[in-house]
Amino acid sequence: MKLFHGGRVQADSARAPEPLDILVGEDGRIEALLAPGSTVPDAERIDLSQRLIVPGLLDAHQHLDKSRTLRDVPNPAGDLDGAIAAFSAYATRMTQAEVERNAERTIAACLERGTVAIRSHVNIDTECRLRNIEALLAVRERWADRLRVQVVAFLTSGGVHASEGAAWLDSALRAGADVVGATPNRARDVGAFMDVLFAAAERHGRPIDVHLDEHLDITHVHFDALIERTLAHGMQGRVVASHSSVLSALPPAEAGRIIEGLARAEIGVVTLPAANLFLQGRSYDRLTPRGLTRVNDLARAGVTVACASDNIQDPFVPTGSGDLLEIARWTMLAAHLASTELARAFDMVTRHPAKLMGLAADHGIKVGARADWLVTDALDAEDLVASGPLARTVVFGGRRVAGPGH
Ligand SMILES: [Zn+2]
Repeated sequence: MKLFHGGRVQADSARAPEPLDILVGEDGRIEALLAPGSTVPDAERIDLSQRLIVPGLLDAHQHLDKSRTLRDVPNPAGDLDGAIAAFSAYATRMTQAEVERNAERTIAACLERGTVAIRSHVNIDTECRLRNIEALLAVRERWADRLRVQVVAFLTSGGVHASEGAAWLDSALRAGADVVGATPNRARDVGAFMDVLFAAAERHGRPIDVHLDEHLDITHVHFDALIERTLAHGMQGRVVASHSSVLSALPPAEAGRIIEGLARAEIGVVTLPAANLFLQGRSYDRLTPRGLTRVNDLARAGVTVACASDNIQDPFVPTGSGDLLEIARWTMLAAHLASTELARAFDMVTRHPAKLMGLAADHGIKVGARADWLVTDALDAEDLVASGPLARTVVFGGRRVAGPGH
């Protein structure tokens, strides 16, 4: 057992950090939150020296198999179609070793900055077939003692049209992929394609996370099809619509009707500010839109909204350090959160993604959760989003996995 003492702890049960000691069992889970100065015989004592302990950051949406390919895959058009075309031309030439190497560099960067779990969409299409899935399953295994990777079997634009699509999805899920994913709005028959996804999810008992309507064209809107199927399959609370950008282009009344449906079906939304700001709105010659979904309207209606990295240094997003606090900060600015809502932005990289990734019971500073946390000199969670301290120590399962010792 280990007793982490002398820290300022942001417990799940409190609004602000408080002095608490944390007892962690041999299984890497929190056994007790104790008053400061408690003694526990036989426990190894670790002094936190007044530093702030918050839950580890959760990245609900990345593309680790594309990470760090920018130098080989430029995107001169700068928009989503340009990025997809550039990457698929390159994808046939990638090797599994290269995919693993790039993914691991990014995972290491994310871990150093406080991320303890990443849900990665992994391309399945005519170019990659199942190679990238195999790469990320191997990476998931190698990092399992430091960071949790969830692999989304992601039928991309090319995969959507391939006749082998459904079979590839089955193979990926049988091999151990955690989640069913795709870009259904790029299918010729969106409803029929969504049926394929829900059938696969049902067969394998997996949740669904789709890239939905990552565009601003109000003549192509597909939320109703997702809502209907989520309710019909009893998948409430197990479906995520990533991006959902077009919601912000729709008139408020129509967007409100859809948002009410998403709330009713308990469909979560992940907003990806980096990709949306970079890729969307390039055809406008003035007042360029931000391209993010209606983050505030969704939250007000009770929809769980997380923010996440999406792409890191590839043709979809040329930048990215792997710092989720930076993404929370951009969400604050680009989604127009109120100036008093820094804590809500922090929830969007911790509590909210925990719910969407099925990690709610495991995550947070509470008895029974895994001891996955971030230690800094920040004042509180609001200060973390506002200023993002440089010195960070990361604990996973009660063991220090990045940053200087306590
Ligand atoms: Zn994505």
